[in-house]
Amino acid sequence: MSEHSYDAIIIGAGVIGGAVALELADRGYKTLTVDKAATAGAGSTINSCAIVRFSYSSIEGINLSWEGMHYWKDWANYIGSDDELGLIDYHMTGQLVLQQHGDATHAARVKMLWDELGIPHEVWDTDTIKARCPYIDPSLFGPPTRPDNEAFWKDPAGAIERGYFTPDAGYVSDPQLSCHNLQRGAEARGATFWFNAEVVSIDQDDHRISGVTLADGRAPRAPIVVNVAGPHSYLINQMAGVYDSMNIKTKALRHEVHHVPAPDGVDFDAHGITVADDDLGIYFRPEVGNHILIGSGDPVCDPREFVDPEDYDTSLYAEQYEAQVLRANRRLPGIGMPHHKKGIVDLYDVSDDWIPIYDRTDLDGFYVAIGTSGNQYKNAGSAGQMMADLIIAVEGGHDHDGDPLVVEGRYSGADLDIGFFSRNREINPNSSMSVHG
Ligand SMILES: Cc1cc2nc3c(=O)[nH]c(=O)nc-3n(C[C@H](O)[C@H](O)[C@H](O)COP(=O)(O)OP(=O)(O)OC[C@H]3O[C@@H](n4cnc5c(N)ncnc54)[C@H](O)[C@@H]3O)c2cc1C
Repeated sequence: MSEHSYDAIIIGAGVIGGAVALELADRGYKTLTVDKAATAGAGSTINSCAIVRFSYSSIEGINLSWEGMHYWKDWANYIGSDDELGLIDYHMTGQLVLQQHGDATHAARVKMLWDELGIPHEVWDTDTIKARCPYIDPSLFGPPTRPDNEAFWKDPAGAIERGYFTPDAGYVSDPQLSCHNLQRGAEARGATFWFNAEVVSIDQDDHRISGVTLADGRAPRAPIVVNVAGPHSYLINQMAGVYDSMNIKTKALRHEVHHVPAPDGVDFDAHGITVADDDLGIYFRPEVGNHILIGSGDPVCDPREFVDPEDYDTSLYAEQYEAQVLRANRRLPGIGMPHHKKGIVDLYDVSDDWIPIYDRTDLDGFYVAIGTSGNQYKNAGSAGQMMADLIIAVEGGHDHDGDPLVVEGRYSGADLDIGFFSRNREINPNSSMSVHG
């Protein structure tokens, strides 16, 4: 083996790429991770809200997230090495999914699936919501609209009757640090990381991966390459020549998250929880410094802007800031409209049905962990396990396309059905087609 020969090359040192590297290194693979950024986690992971929740629209999605949560709870053991920057904290605030009227809602579907799978949860009625979260106004305001629509300003139509609370949910306070932790954990198992290393070509020899070429001319060799390039995933697939052969595609969607101070007199650091609020089309969670992060639940009234990941507007849009902060004001009265607009703009790597693709491809040795659709941070550990098990099985001769692999989650024992995340699935009609997955 030459100096620059590896068993596997991983493109991307985000949270999913980091977990793939750790898992493969743990199984004895000599891995090289290449990332065009200067440090781990500087891609879309850096701006993730890093919420850990189980409110997916499919059994397979819930199983993956339930299993994934255990990694955050057991982080120090999972990483298994020191990090000079320290390890992340998992804030187990719990998550409340608010139920609007009617059974044809995402919340109702989630509740049904949680019952089926035995995901621990409590049903909160209006009085319980008020008692447990006195800062929440449980009125029914929806369906979501924008402030330039007069329906936005109508009086509430009754109250939210129920919410579903999962105590094990929460968030990670520093998503970029989690990537550095994964890097150190992978390095302790023999992995190598190159930064400022941009892949410009995916190399093949006789229909099989042979390595990658970097912008600086270096060309590390390996028989396995894993595309974990986040919102740049489709560009890497085009380089590899597999883009057209996949039924499900990915593209980069611009997204904003806004940061506001908690209302006066509310200690959101101490008492805040994570809330999914489809009645208003938002979600929110506590942020350090008694702040609140407000994200979008992708209501249909909001414009969707697909962009070139190399060239998009990174400034906050005044209309979107106003829409999200006014929506949050209805649920959390007293936020007001801060003079200084704070927030972030980043990209989701959205698949056609907002469900990720964890799969092999038609090019032997080329694998993808992509299409994470704004909802896979929490699943890094379980996705890493699935990808490593998949690669080992396929390289060992398993026909995953003909006989899709199901592996057992190492913490929960849940079935992780990798075929569900196939590149060649039909668009899943049960998907929320939103960040809920
Ligand atoms: C605003 C926002 C909020 C979110 N909130 C949540 C949440 O609350 N909960 C949740 O579970 N998920 C959430 N997500 C989704 C989650 O953050 C992502 O699914 C996850 O971070 C993706 O990780 P990744 O490793 O796949 O990609 P990334 O972190 O994007 O990493 C990809 C890496 O590939 C590198 N790369 C790209 N092209 C090349 C190239 N040519 N050569 C070399 N390197 C390359 C990039 O530099 C980058 O570091 C959110 C995402 C966003 C943007």
